[in-house]
Amino acid sequence: MAHGVSTNLIFDLDGVVYLGDESVPGAGETLDLLDRAGHHILFCTNNSSRTRAQCAEKIRRVTGYGARAEQIASSAMSAGRLIEPSARVLRVGGDGVAEAIHLRGASEVADIDADTVVVGIDFSFGYDLLDRAAAAVRSGARFIATNRDVTYPSPERLRPGAGSIVAAVEAASGEVAVNAGKPEAPMRRLLAEMLVAGPVVMIGDRPDTDLAMAHAEGWRSILVDTGVTHPDAAVHPPPSSRVPSIVAVPDVLD
Ligand SMILES: [Mg+2]
Repeated sequence: MAHGVSTNLIFDLDGVVYLGDESVPGAGETLDLLDRAGHHILFCTNNSSRTRAQCAEKIRRVTGYGARAEQIASSAMSAGRLIEPSARVLRVGGDGVAEAIHLRGASEVADIDADTVVVGIDFSFGYDLLDRAAAAVRSGARFIATNRDVTYPSPERLRPGAGSIVAAVEAASGEVAVNAGKPEAPMRRLLAEMLVAGPVVMIGDRPDTDLAMAHAEGWRSILVDTGVTHPDAAVHPPPSSRVPSIVAVPDVLD
């Protein structure tokens, strides 16, 4: 920004920018406005299913805002940073987790001799993969979860999230996963490397992830009522501001 201080604006995606494949009305225009005003715009999602490029493409397609891959912080990426470059990784998850393993330089294996198991959302998850993942973890493999969201909203109903799959592997292995997603430290370290100098504001719809992360870092937080939190619900931790939708975010900045 030519004048004044650039603010880091970290937007959650599902429930804030879009719902499924539908834009929150006015999201693209609002992101354009804030970008042109010189703010540093990032997107932070616990959804690990997509690569960064796929994620940016979805934002562009759904909202019209020209998102770039470098603006995306996903739980797949934060999980990937916990993997040793020499690791032999059993993957439970989609393209996003595969990209994170590859970027780390680690190798993927399908057998129970894996020394690391990464668990994210996996739409073809079944008994055989549960069996192999649990066996590897029981034998001492590092156990990394992309996130613990047990559900996520779809236009029709709540769907099982990565946290439900993580819970299955935990139950079958008797071990507890390290959580790489919001609001935990691995995601906060990833974001710290993407921020520019200046204040930080987190915009989200979920108290236990978005608001909790902002609270832990001492960032300002804005809760939007377009996602999972009912407009009349009391919220903990309390946000700095609460707005009906992303369109009202510019009104409550500075
Ligand atoms: Mg959300």
